[in-house]
Amino acid sequence: MKIAVPRDAYPGETRVSLIPEHVAKLVKAGAEVSIESGLGQTLRIVDDQYAEAGAAVVADRNTLIEEADMILRIRKPLPEEVDRMKAAGIYISLLDPFNERELIDRFMAKKISAISMEMIPRITRAQKMDVLSSQANLAGYVSVILAAERLDRILPMMMTPAGTISPAKVFVIGVGVAGLQAIATAKRLGARVEAFDTRPVVEEQVKSLGARFVKIDLGETGQTKDGYAKALTEEQLQKQRQGMAKICASSDVVITTAQLFGRKSPRIVTAEMVHGMQKGSVILDLAVEGGGNVAGSQLDQEIDVNGVLIIGLGNLPGRVAVHASQMFSSNLYNLVEEFWSTEEKQFNMNFDDEIIKGCVITHQGEIVNEMIANHYADK
Ligand code: NAD
Repeated sequence: MKIAVPRDAYPGETRVSLIPEHVAKLVKAGAEVSIESGLGQTLRIVDDQYAEAGAAVVADRNTLIEEADMILRIRKPLPEEVDRMKAAGIYISLLDPFNERELIDRFMAKKISAISMEMIPRITRAQKMDVLSSQANLAGYVSVILAAERLDRILPMMMTPAGTISPAKVFVIGVGVAGLQAIATAKRLGARVEAFDTRPVVEEQVKSLGARFVKIDLGETGQTKDGYAKALTEEQLQKQRQGMAKICASSDVVITTAQLFGRKSPRIVTAEMVHGMQKGSVILDLAVEGGGNVAGSQLDQEIDVNGVLIIGLGNLPGRVAVHASQMFSSNLYNLVEEFWSTEEKQFNMNFDDEIIKGCVITHQGEIVNEMIANHYADK
């Protein structure tokens, strides 16, 4: 089986989908791996390192794509790249399948088996393939580092002969993978941290990191079988905003990470709440790519609203591209390895397997993923 790794076509993407370490492992398992020349450039990995790992280095992306049985990448292909792919080939990357109807149609027309890394189910066996977790973890870390750098004060308490400085207050809204790492990072830097999530199970985790869990009575909330939050009613969101306005007003940094799987992110911090905050404070909207949690946040922009800085920078894991790539590459390798037959030297899609059922979106010209099929059936 020929596995190809083209560079990502997304402007500004600094991450690399497959690093030489995992190329070598795939070659050892019997795969023929080709990479596009310059693949590792952003990480200062040169073509020779890929060649040493056993990959063929191809200069022309079109040739690489046309000859591949399987393509590995960080993000979706360009439309014309799908048309170039071998019929019935496999494409694996983040695909944002809830919002990419046209791309899905294109995959179907070419009978491509499209695998969406976002859709890997959250079961123990699949944790090693879970890019949402590996990348969110880094995003949580970067969010605090960025906010700390933009703030014109320090995070820790300092007692010096020149006086005592009290610790900065950081409020984390949404405590999934990113939120937990944001709490841990802010604590390590010495901040006083408070956090809130609609899933009550999170309280223990927040406390175990030494942060305070903010309690707001919203009535029935809860989570799905995959551990994702259920959407709140407008009335519940209203209560949540009221409960949070005071905490935002006294915080130096607010980090929002609230997401709803397959849906637009909830709008939690209103313009009024932003106006109630102290001048000089910083809001970091980590959900900006999914619609944003904060009124006024804009993708890839930092906006000053009445002295409050709203940061909406996207692709935070791309700011620590070495580790983000290491983890992404490992997640991709683990997925391929799980379904790889060393005797047949190929990837076998077993549709009885929960992981394959969860992450394969299109196969043999049809949408085979139940959740995605239902999503588009309603449209
Ligand atoms: P996510 O990125 O979908 O959402 C981030 C957080 O936002 C979640 O904790 C969610 O509850 C919260 N949220 C949603 N609406 C909110 C609102 N209105 N106000 C405040 N918070 C709100 O979540 P995630 O990081 O992917 O993690 C979800 C859960 O899945 C976590 O408990 C995580 O530990 C778990 N998980 C399990 C596995 C596994 O393999 N078992 C793997 C990864 C994550």
